[in-house]
Amino acid sequence: MSEYMQVDRALFDQVMVPNYAPAPMIPVRGQGSRVWDQQGREYIDFAGGIAVNALGHCHPALVSALKHQADQLWHLSNVMTNEPALRLAKKLTDATFAEKVYFANSGAEANEAALKLARRWALENFGAQKQQIISFGKSFHGRTFFTVTVGGQSSYSDGFGPKPAAIDHAEYNNLDSLKALMSDNTCAVILEPLQGEGGIIPADPAFLRGVRTLCDQHNALMIYDEVQTGVGRTGKLYAYMHSDVTPDILTTAKSLGGGFPVGAMLTSTAIASHLKVGTHGSTYGGNPLACAVAEAALDTINTPEVLNGVLQRDQLFRRELAAINEQYQLFSEVRGQGMLLGAVLNDQFKGRSREFFLAAADQGLLALVAGPDVIRFAPSLVIPEQDIVEGMQRFAKAVAQVLNQH
Ligand SMILES: *Cc1c(COP(=O)(O)O)cnc(C)c1O
Repeated sequence: MSEYMQVDRALFDQVMVPNYAPAPMIPVRGQGSRVWDQQGREYIDFAGGIAVNALGHCHPALVSALKHQADQLWHLSNVMTNEPALRLAKKLTDATFAEKVYFANSGAEANEAALKLARRWALENFGAQKQQIISFGKSFHGRTFFTVTVGGQSSYSDGFGPKPAAIDHAEYNNLDSLKALMSDNTCAVILEPLQGEGGIIPADPAFLRGVRTLCDQHNALMIYDEVQTGVGRTGKLYAYMHSDVTPDILTTAKSLGGGFPVGAMLTSTAIASHLKVGTHGSTYGGNPLACAVAEAALDTINTPEVLNGVLQRDQLFRRELAAINEQYQLFSEVRGQGMLLGAVLNDQFKGRSREFFLAAADQGLLALVAGPDVIRFAPSLVIPEQDIVEGMQRFAKAVAQVLNQH
């Protein structure tokens, strides 16, 4: 292997488009829920690559699947199908309400496919007037122009020219606000069953049932964006399985590949039939490497041991956070489900989530924020309990560090 050139964080500002502001350290290696940077400093990972590394770093099942497939076949294009894609699609349909799968490379692409499919379904079944898509304030559905316009933060979609049309936003957990927008011209309602980027905001079960009922009344499709909540994150394979509400289309990505880029859209045969040959596609979607890794991730995660373990870890996280809160009176509540938790800063600390995030990194803990008021934790679903306890000790030190500065 050739010698690699030395690189450092300063090079980022020289050669990278400045749309990110990455942390000062550069991680070079990960194992389980621990990560090491260029200087050999160790971090405990409560961030999981933003809810992606569902089995931690370099999980043996994923490494083995990737290495095996690397020696078999990397890419063919969709002119041919491949074994890993077929196996993964079979397992996803066996495990969910869905009968058909479309593979993409990311969450945004899975949502793009879902939204385009909904428009086609409505056009072909009801006519061109049925094109309204409704989403919710604070929702996040990705960064393509369609998905970012559907998302609930206009600051992300402003300034790029004319936006895709016929998109409206209702208030999350407010059924009346949805009812006021809906009509027989509504083609789809898209929502996260637990809003992630928006601040770890759970949906009311009654709200979800109400959305389902309104969609049925108006012949609109209900799309669940489970890009962040999917593949075991909340303690069920998909979050919809906690309730009696089943969507018409579901999108999944993030944890699906455990760190390898892959996304998927799941739906019924009847709805899927509207994406006929040639209507949509992707060069890499269904790539054998991605599907081989995702198959191993799904096999490993969709077991009672792992899913029940998520709920046990949820309890431990909450106990540890409660103990820290008893000492520092920092949070007004801890919300979310499974390994997707948000500690909501109380009024005194509002707007300062990033300070805690930076102090945590100082103390050797990778955490996340979800907006300015929420500290988010999205660790590996199989993070060892010892790492949770030790990580929380580091988080407590980070809290003390922030408080001492003021
Ligand atoms: C992260 C996320 C997306 C976007 O996924 P990408 O892989 O970044 O395109 C979409 N929806 C939700 C709910 C997400 O959390």
